[in-house]
Amino acid sequence: MRFAREREPLLAQGSSLSYGDASLSGRLISALPLNRLLSFDSSEGVLCAEAGITLEEIIRFALPRGWFLPVTPGTKFVTLGGCICADVHGKNHHVDGSIGSFVREIHMVLAGGTEIRCSPQQNSELFEATVGGMGLTGFVYAATVGLRRVQSAFLQVRTEKTSDLESTCRTLLATQSEYTYSVAWIDTFPGATRRGRGLVMLGRHAPAEEGDPTAPLRLHSPPRASVPDCVPAFLVNRFSGRVFNALYYRKQWRRQADSVVHYDPFFYPLDALANWNRLYGRGGFLQYQFVVPFDSPDEGANGGEGAIEEVLGLLARRGFGSTLAVLKTFGPQRGLLSFPTAGLTLALDFPLGNGRIVQALDEVTKMVVRAGGRVYLAKDAVVGQADFEAMFPRLDEFRRIKQRFDPNGLFRSVQSDRLGIT
Ligand SMILES: Cc1cc2nc3c(=O)[nH]c(=O)nc-3n(C[C@H](O)[C@H](O)[C@H](O)COP(=O)(O)OP(=O)(O)OC[C@H]3O[C@@H](n4cnc5c(N)ncnc54)[C@H](O)[C@@H]3O)c2cc1C
Repeated sequence: MRFAREREPLLAQGSSLSYGDASLSGRLISALPLNRLLSFDSSEGVLCAEAGITLEEIIRFALPRGWFLPVTPGTKFVTLGGCICADVHGKNHHVDGSIGSFVREIHMVLAGGTEIRCSPQQNSELFEATVGGMGLTGFVYAATVGLRRVQSAFLQVRTEKTSDLESTCRTLLATQSEYTYSVAWIDTFPGATRRGRGLVMLGRHAPAEEGDPTAPLRLHSPPRASVPDCVPAFLVNRFSGRVFNALYYRKQWRRQADSVVHYDPFFYPLDALANWNRLYGRGGFLQYQFVVPFDSPDEGANGGEGAIEEVLGLLARRGFGSTLAVLKTFGPQRGLLSFPTAGLTLALDFPLGNGRIVQALDEVTKMVVRAGGRVYLAKDAVVGQADFEAMFPRLDEFRRIKQRFDPNGLFRSVQSDRLGIT
């Protein structure tokens, strides 16, 4: 493969499901036509596929054979290449880490047109920079990943209702070792004492005899409904957000409930509604996700729960509650620009409205930096260069490797220009 030597930036794109400007550039090469499965070792669960294959396609192939994704984000429509380059995390990060921990080998084309393979053992610097490197090191055209053995398409799920942020965090931490998957939906609208109340959802893969015994490895069905392209923006506002969150909190009356749930609603609730993003109207919305370490390295700043409390308090004072807020814990970091690092992570959604939210998120970013945390690049559209440089301690290493493999800075995105990653 050869890339034309023009000055205009170039970038690989997968399903373009990252939320901000990470997959936008002057010229784009879509990886979607590269969607073939190349090989599969059914005894070890090792799969090699082209980078444009989607997680949905991998599940369709692997699940009936008793294998599942080792890590999955909250939608199955993303590509393998997009997941590696964002080093995506799932609800199991606290035990398994991010997708990069399961990648055995990456096949790429560099800026000069050279084809190269990298892995934790071979060209390991390039590997560490490419996992989570947001497509800035080269074009990934195939990868080999290890899958997870499962006996069933179902999960044993426990849902615990919590009354405030403190009990949500306590429940998440106390249940870490018992469950592979854990995540909390939280309500950011109530007053200070109950803000952060929520539902903590815990899961583990069910044994063969649970779920639907007639179809233990049953696949998902296509989305049942689609949001039309003419939803007025006022449908999702502060008032409807408050009502939705209050109702969702009441969907479970008991403090604790156990159920057996198919993997599709457990991992991919939003996939059931095609074009769900249109609910925000044509003005669109912003998603913003950050992580803060359990203890801040700065003695004057809060870490963990205290930092989350501060962020929610600031947003409430500025008049914002998140339509959907998801809290979870992370284990340690890998990769140079990878997002996850040990601590608490919170993902927030806001209608863009008149844009005032951007200013408020700038204040939040400053808090996150003080707490020693960082923002997820796959969900960023607002961070400035100085804050970005303060967030990623291994950025200089990344820049050095990028300079070596892409000396003329061919691979660039709108985001990398905004953040000054050259
Ligand atoms: C509903 C929803 C839920 C989500 N939940 C999560 C979650 O739980 N956890 C999580 O981590 N993320 C989550 N995400 C974010 C999403 O998983 C990531 O943004 C992922 O990178 C998107 O994959 P994609 O194929 O759409 O890649 P794109 O959005 O197209 O690209 C993402 C980045 O990867 C680069 N890239 C893509 N393909 C290649 C390639 N072949 N070679 C080189 N570079 C490439 C792009 O240049 C870009 O920088 C969610 C997104 C949505 C919409």
